[in-house]
Amino acid sequence: MTQLNGNGLALADAYYSAYGSRARELKAEGRKVIGYLSALAPVEIMTAAGLVPLRLKGYPEEPITRADVHMETIVCPFVRNVFDAVLKGKYDFLDGMVLPHQCDSMDRTNDVWSYTLKLPYWHFLNVPHLSDGPSVEFMLSILRLFVGSLEKLTGNRVGNELIALAVKAHNENRRLMRRLYDLRKTNPPLISGEEMTKVQVGAMSLPVLESSSLIEAVIHEVVQRKPPHGNGGKRIMIVGDQVDTAAIAHTIEGAGAWLVMDDISIGAKLCRSEIDTTPDPLQGLAEHYLRHVNLPTTYVAAGKTYGENTDARFGHLKQDIHDFKVDGVVLLINKYCDPYGFEVPAIKAYIESAGASVLYLEYEYANSTLPRLETRIGAFLEMIS
Ligand code: SF4
Repeated sequence: MTQLNGNGLALADAYYSAYGSRARELKAEGRKVIGYLSALAPVEIMTAAGLVPLRLKGYPEEPITRADVHMETIVCPFVRNVFDAVLKGKYDFLDGMVLPHQCDSMDRTNDVWSYTLKLPYWHFLNVPHLSDGPSVEFMLSILRLFVGSLEKLTGNRVGNELIALAVKAHNENRRLMRRLYDLRKTNPPLISGEEMTKVQVGAMSLPVLESSSLIEAVIHEVVQRKPPHGNGGKRIMIVGDQVDTAAIAHTIEGAGAWLVMDDISIGAKLCRSEIDTTPDPLQGLAEHYLRHVNLPTTYVAAGKTYGENTDARFGHLKQDIHDFKVDGVVLLINKYCDPYGFEVPAIKAYIESAGASVLYLEYEYANSTLPRLETRIGAFLEMIS
């Protein structure tokens, strides 16, 4: 894949279509590849340890055929699908995995994953569900344990200087991604939602410096596009967890709208804020992952009123609706996902109060359900036209 000399979007498409191909190549060159789940995995520490971190995605275009032998079917379909993909050998080059505690579907299946896969390295990262001072202290101690376990794996010390350098590289990656997001503000956007998904997925499959080069190449290509003429298509934002298939954007855009913004865990949730530079870089990481990656599982209401709390939790969405001129929001919530599911009434009311319409869809992380979603999305667009 590295020999591809095409433009950024073509390269992103190639990495999207052959997901993990670069990690497979690096493994063949002797590097160790660590798979991880969730936006809560501190990828900076893996980079600092000289490992190749690969965020795992599922294959919604394929039915789950192997996972259900080991994992209950009430586990969220994303987690089951990724587990199924690993069982089918799609990630047969992994040296290990990191599984952070984000929700019950991850936490309660940790044993099933580790027992069944028997990878040489396994680490469960016990991310707390509170974000007060003692919880940040706890987070700091579990990050130290993580560093220690990676030092054991690699045989090398992972010192503060290496972590600080990795933080810098990942912050630069976040900055570049935000620049790309800005190119979605025109009407229509300079980059479509389908292209953007492929860039997000392609970028998350690469070591950080290669990921940044890819995003830079895409920006370079996209800014040269002529500002397109508006076609009256509604501007849609998608909100959910790991939406890593371009089929969703394709469905929305195929119905005549533009997907212009997201609040998903492989997208804007990752790049909204940067990690602070702190004398002990793990302190900045602990605070970032606990307090600034805005997820339902780590958000703790701290305001005096309901309004203050919803502003703290969803205020960024109001800002995006304004900045990206969003007409409608699709809440794409995975079936059996309690953390996001419990928030639906509050987030729906909040978004509506910000002036956008909301479509709540229960998603089964399966392309076989797309025709049903297509009908609902079509009706929603008609309704808001
Ligand atoms: S979609 Fe919900 S249940 Fe599934 S992994 Fe994400 S937070 Fe957990």
